[in-house]
Amino acid sequence: MVVNLTEQFKDIKILKNEPLSNYTWTKTGGKAEFLAFPTSVDQTQALLEFAQQNQIPVTVLGNASNLIVSDNGIVGLTLILTEMKKITVAGERITAEAGAAYVKTTQVAQAAGLTGMEFAAGIPGSIGGGVYMNAGAYGGETDYILETAQVLDQNGSVVTMTNAELDFGYRHSKVQDNGGIVLAATFKLKPGNKTLIQMEMDHLNYLRKSKQPLEYPSCGSVFKRPKGHFAGKLIHDSGLQGYRSGGAEVSKKHAGFIVNVDHATATDYENVIKHVQETVWDKFKIKLETEVRVIGK
Ligand SMILES: Cc1cc2nc3c(=O)[nH]c(=O)nc-3n(C[C@H](O)[C@H](O)[C@H](O)COP(=O)(O)OP(=O)(O)OC[C@H]3O[C@@H](n4cnc5c(N)ncnc54)[C@H](O)[C@@H]3O)c2cc1C
Repeated sequence: MVVNLTEQFKDIKILKNEPLSNYTWTKTGGKAEFLAFPTSVDQTQALLEFAQQNQIPVTVLGNASNLIVSDNGIVGLTLILTEMKKITVAGERITAEAGAAYVKTTQVAQAAGLTGMEFAAGIPGSIGGGVYMNAGAYGGETDYILETAQVLDQNGSVVTMTNAELDFGYRHSKVQDNGGIVLAATFKLKPGNKTLIQMEMDHLNYLRKSKQPLEYPSCGSVFKRPKGHFAGKLIHDSGLQGYRSGGAEVSKKHAGFIVNVDHATATDYENVIKHVQETVWDKFKIKLETEVRVIGK
């Protein structure tokens, strides 16, 4: 890149040629040409505007828990929003900045005696990633509790999108189509009993721990649920558990997960994904689509 971003934005932490394997939950992936850590809406807006003026491609990361970043890395400017993490409570509403951890936000809700967000107690993403993906678990979904989201649109304007405008679907939101950056979200919860909320969160985290291979790096469920089926069951019934390419392996504990068991690369992940998709197709004629986002060069 001709423009030196670190010179342009001295007040923002920007790392050059930063290995993204330091951030991704799979511990894989190449380098970001520039990785910026904005701490405010203004900084995010300024970075986006500058990138657009200079035709620099922009990629947004939250907690990098649903990502495979190519081993060749990401060209241009990568924004990681984890330093924008304020969470505030006002009555029955919680507003969290995009980089706030979903887990932390559920803890704030519990401490405020607000119920409705317990389902997310173990989802390791950020609020921005949760809105983008319509993250959900155990019968709950971001869709069900989100009132509005603040989004930086492609024109560089900060807009408020309502729940209806976000057009949530299964692991889908309008932001995926429009390419905006989620800056914050406001959730409307209900008053509840703090002890019961904590018990529910503990119970769901217990279930998670007993079913998911949390002892290894991973990106959660790799594939979307195909209509009328469960990806994990199809993979299990295809005899793929334990299948390995390099250091990436279809988990023996939960067939929907691909775990990094031994210094895997993103290419190992991509190879396992491809093999699983081909095998399930050959056996059941069912197409497995990835839930995980594969990005980079
Ligand atoms: C062990 C484990 C368990 C998991 N369990 C669940 C689960 O139960 N339910 C579930 O739904 N998911 C689960 N996940 C997946 C993941 O946590 C969610 O998809 C989460 O919402 C991703 O958030 P993130 O901040 O990590 O997003 P990232 O992985 O950083 O990004 C995911 C996508 O969102 C985009 N994005 C991120 N932030 C923004 C933003 N502010 N504005 C615009 N786009 C943005 C990125 O560009 C990318 O395309 C799990 C993952 C792991 C590793």
